[in-house]
Amino acid sequence: MKRFAALAASLTLAAPLAAQGTRPVTPPPAMSAIRQQDLRRDLFTLAGDAMRGREAGTLDEMRASMWLADQMRQIGLTPRGEDGTFFQWWNMRRTRVSPGATSVSIGGHPYALWTEVIPLSSSAASASAPTVFVTDLQDSTRDLAGKVAVAQLVAPPAAAVRTTTNTYQYNYARAAIALATRALMRRGAAGVILVAEPVTDSVFNDIAIVQARGSYDVVGGVPRFSRNPNAARQAPAATPPVVLVRRNALDALRAGGQTADLHIGVESFESPSVNIIGEVRGTDPKLRNEYVIFSSHQDHDGVRFAVNGDSIWNGADDNASTSVALLAIARAWVKHPGKRSALFIFHGAEERGLLGSRYFVAHPVVPLDSIVAVLNGDMIGRNNPDTAALLGSQPPHRNSTALVQMALDANRAVSHFVIDSTWDRPTHPEGWYFRSDHVPYAERGVPSLFFTTNLHPDYHTPRDEPQRIDYAKLTRMTQWMYLTGWIAANAPTPPARDPGFVLR
Ligand SMILES: [Zn+2]
Repeated sequence: MKRFAALAASLTLAAPLAAQGTRPVTPPPAMSAIRQQDLRRDLFTLAGDAMRGREAGTLDEMRASMWLADQMRQIGLTPRGEDGTFFQWWNMRRTRVSPGATSVSIGGHPYALWTEVIPLSSSAASASAPTVFVTDLQDSTRDLAGKVAVAQLVAPPAAAVRTTTNTYQYNYARAAIALATRALMRRGAAGVILVAEPVTDSVFNDIAIVQARGSYDVVGGVPRFSRNPNAARQAPAATPPVVLVRRNALDALRAGGQTADLHIGVESFESPSVNIIGEVRGTDPKLRNEYVIFSSHQDHDGVRFAVNGDSIWNGADDNASTSVALLAIARAWVKHPGKRSALFIFHGAEERGLLGSRYFVAHPVVPLDSIVAVLNGDMIGRNNPDTAALLGSQPPHRNSTALVQMALDANRAVSHFVIDSTWDRPTHPEGWYFRSDHVPYAERGVPSLFFTTNLHPDYHTPRDEPQRIDYAKLTRMTQWMYLTGWIAANAPTPPARDPGFVLR
């Protein structure tokens, strides 16, 4: 029901935006070089099972990156990475629970890490205290200070269970864990032991696989955008350990007063990821030192837990779709270059926290103020065939009204999408605007747009596969990004930056 309501709302709201694209546009001579059969062929390769889901920091991301660089070389792009290559190397830092430094025992009984107990955060934490069994999470009359609280998970409110990603059971478990953790921490517990109920127990191994991965950051990149930068800079307070145990531990844990020893140790290490960068030099001697960027990310979520017997998270829509669009645009651009130069950037490790784009803006290969437009795409091949979103097209996300106008003109001339404006609103529950690689650029005032066809139930699951892509729609999205970039690359003056823009 919700989905239909949202779609109806977007259709009525879309008309005024689309109507603003009123300036005549001549499509570039090489428009016919954008070919649906190329997009399909490349997408089946990049998102095929042989690429194993392209997980950042692994050989699988490297394999995909090498393939993309080889395509760039064949297309005829000029390398703009390090030492005459297409590659800009950097390290991601991974922090995860250390099996050797972690132990959990309750009432003298040891629990095996990942199979019997799951630490629910990747930060070091310890508690050694008597247990208290809590039967009512909402009962605030019992002080839990100095105690390790034990409680069985309860059903979360339906509205708290996300539906746009992953499986229902997994999201149900996450919501139930968050609910119980908040309730018990508020009451001052020194540690928390959560006991799975049937739904969470059914995805216990899935949660273990995700938690064992830990958390990621980029070495030498800019900080992740935060609406509250002061809060982000404060050192995180030491938090008590929170662990999840299986449902079958319930009987042993009901009796309070047992000694719980929870010791969570962490380890941290670096592994390489990479941005892939190629250029088509502009034809105008005065304008060629200004750049239009076409942006994608090559990574996805790798090999994870199986859903219906399939453990490869292919990331066909996310984001092989835009990656093959960039190759198609590059083919057209090489045939017929614009006046300004075009940079094609595949950012590594987007899925681990926009790591590649956060590295690039800290180490840009051209001055940031010479970039006249960032046209980022993420997930551009699914959902209603005639609807698409243009994020960064309305306040507070819009930082160049002129660039938005170019995109609307391009849409009117070639792609004819009804533009769904709901996903670009600061009130949208998904916060979709902040979840792709244009953000570090936009935050620094670079005119930036995010082209997308939005989330769907296969998002971040093994079901995001090449055969589920709408190739006609992907072709139109590619044409739209291409023509927008073409207009920006050939305009007498670059798209003006909106004065006083601050991302929030
Ligand atoms: Zn993505």
